[in-house]
Amino acid sequence: MLRECEADHVKELCKAAAFVLTKLDGTTIGLGLLCLDCRYAAVRWPGVEGIDRRFGTPTEWAVIERELTEGLPATPLSPLTACAHVLAFGTDARVQWVGWAKRMEVDEPSKTPAVLDALLSEAANLI
Ligand SMILES: [Zn+2]
Repeated sequence: MLRECEADHVKELCKAAAFVLTKLDGTTIGLGLLCLDCRYAAVRWPGVEGIDRRFGTPTEWAVIERELTEGLPATPLSPLTACAHVLAFGTDARVQWVGWAKRMEVDEPSKTPAVLDALLSEAANLI
C-alpha cells in the first residue's frame, strides 16, 4: 500500500527513520529506512545487489506511526514491534533504530522512493 506524500507544496520533505540490522552477536548486516509519509520501507544488505523493498499493511503503518511518535529505544527492538517486523520480515535479523536520516527535498512525490533508495545505498556503502 503506497501513499504519496501530501502534494500541497512543490518541494516535498521526507523525514526517514534509519535502522541497522544486525546478527544476534551485534554484527551489522544491513541498513534500513522507513518513511512514514511515503509509506517507504527498504533494506540494503551490503554485498547484495539492489534495494530490498519492504511493504507494510495499513495496520502495520499505523503501528509504525505510533512507535515513531512515542520514540524508539537505543537497544535492539522487539521483533514484535511493527518497525522491526516490516524491516526484518523473512530474515532473522535484529533491528535497532539509529536516528533520523537528513531531511530530503524532493521535487515530485513520485520521485521520493528513488531518492530514498539512493540515500540508503549511499549510507550502506559506509558500513
Ligand atoms: Zn517520505
